[in-house]
Amino acid sequence: MHSVVLVKQVPDPTGDRRLDRGDATVARDDADAVVGPLDLHALEAALTLREAGGGTVTALTVGPPRAAGALRQALATGADQAVHVVDSALHGACAPQTSAVLAAALRRVGFDLVLCGAASSDGRLGVMAALLGERLGVPHLSGLRALAVTGTTVTGERQTEDGWWELAAELPAVVSTHVLPDPPRRRTVAGIRAAQHRSVTTLTLADLGIDPATVGLAAATSRVVTADAGPARTPGRTGDPAELVRFLADRALV
Ligand SMILES: Cc1cc2nc3c(=O)[nH]c(=O)nc-3n(C[C@H](O)[C@H](O)[C@H](O)COP(=O)(O)OP(=O)(O)OC[C@H]3O[C@@H](n4cnc5c(N)ncnc54)[C@H](O)[C@@H]3O)c2cc1C
Repeated sequence: MHSVVLVKQVPDPTGDRRLDRGDATVARDDADAVVGPLDLHALEAALTLREAGGGTVTALTVGPPRAAGALRQALATGADQAVHVVDSALHGACAPQTSAVLAAALRRVGFDLVLCGAASSDGRLGVMAALLGERLGVPHLSGLRALAVTGTTVTGERQTEDGWWELAAELPAVVSTHVLPDPPRRRTVAGIRAAQHRSVTTLTLADLGIDPATVGLAAATSRVVTADAGPARTPGRTGDPAELVRFLADRALV
């Protein structure tokens, strides 16, 4: 089975993040960059499926040159190969454009199962699995908290406000994952060293037959018009647990 994991490089969610003053796009260069936290769960699922049933795991990203770091992390964690779609025309790409580029790359590399995070930690639109399912003409199962593959069927569980849903689809398919039961494995030093020498396949929009005029900020279906900083956070309260419980109970928070 060929699993393709979508990894998006995002500004570290635990650090300071800001928008560029010029065009209100995410200022990516001055923040620490990490792989999206849920993407690591998707990668863990793909690696676990490979251990159980064999196959190949490819990591795929669409992003600026710096996003190659996300692919190196995926390789160091256990992915077999990596593909980077990089093109300066993509600056400010909206979600539908990004999905068109990802879909073209997926057609190019081939796949049985596409795995991605349920939502990125920067854009947080939570739409990529559905967009890709539509574009590729395959079923998509979104927001899974557990998943398995038996034969040519992928099954999973989705938690909603109404309870648990048990879902199934025939491969090829797209799934997106929330936090899964098994925590993402850590990179080893040997894995990090080995990943530095692995080759990453680089594709441009021309390689994918995509007209640069159809992507990027100028052609985006949505763009950030204005943004304001949120209110400063007040420090939390610490102290005697019994007193803190009374404090919360007085405010009907427990
Ligand atoms: C080169 C480039 C520059 C961009 N610049 C900006 C910018 O400056 N400002 C801005 O607001 N938006 C920018 N975007 C678009 C934005 O970052 C998102 O990629 C896109 O809009 C998807 O939105 P989302 O992350 O909220 O999707 P979600 O649906 O929340 O993402 C779900 C999952 O889909 C996968 N995924 C999403 N995007 C990618 C990707 N690019 N590559 C691989 N996997 C992915 C991940 O697994 C992710 O967890 C840019 C996109 C590209 C490709």
